Amino acid sequence: MPFSPGPRPSSTLDGMDAVLFDLDGVLTPTAVVHMHAWARLFTPVLAAHGAAPYSDADYFAFIDGKPRYDGVHSLLASRGIELPWGDPSDAPEAETVCGLGNRKNAVFTEVLRTEGVTPYPGSVALVDALIAAGRRVAVVSSSRNAVPVLAAAGLTDRFGVVVDGLVAAARALPGKPAPDTYLDAAAQLGVPAERAVVVEDAESGVASGRAGDFGLVVGVDRGAGAATLIAHGADLVVQDLADLLADDVETQTTDTIDGSTPL
Ligand SMILES: [Mg+2]
Repeated sequence: MPFSPGPRPSSTLDGMDAVLFDLDGVLTPTAVVHMHAWARLFTPVLAAHGAAPYSDADYFAFIDGKPRYDGVHSLLASRGIELPWGDPSDAPEAETVCGLGNRKNAVFTEVLRTEGVTPYPGSVALVDALIAAGRRVAVVSSSRNAVPVLAAAGLTDRFGVVVDGLVAAARALPGKPAPDTYLDAAAQLGVPAERAVVVEDAESGVASGRAGDFGLVVGVDRGAGAATLIAHGADLVVQDLADLLADDVETQTTDTIDGSTPL
């Protein structure tokens, strides 16, 4: 039996030809950058409207996993603030939903540029093991910043297919929790949904995996909670994507170091 060096995907992923990864919270801890930027955006806006101050809990309740303008609308609605929707071409100074979304993006880009982002080591290990095993991988993100985030994290070369918020808008694909962006990525990889895995950390994301009848929906618990992710469509929940590597990797490594397993 040929010896395969390095980590490999666990048997949980057997029969799955492609793995479709959400970006923010799955591959990169982008939430830290986003939360910083959302707070910088909304703190003065909510103060100007005399509304309850913005807190990080608002991020998880109203913004996480949604297309940006939907997140702005949802947060404003939670405070009873109604602004015109506006247009995506609105300037960042405009007092519209789109204007605020564009303003947040400018803040985010600046924070990303100055601070960068380090990907989750366990996620990178799984992606590399999948690629080494000949599986296909893609990124499916609601974000319009997926490309600069992948670049800041040093992950660009690993993903030939990226379906992000810009692609979705250009093709008129509805965002998560609709399954369309995931189905589009699977189609681009030439893999049927039943042989593809969706990996998500947000309620709306696992819901889109379930709605698309994908072969497996994996929830990554970065704070949403395992029970919540399962309730919204995850088949299983892990704390770290390294949990989807074969269990005997450490044994293999130890054996190799010990020299007890001939290569
Ligand atoms: Mg996410």
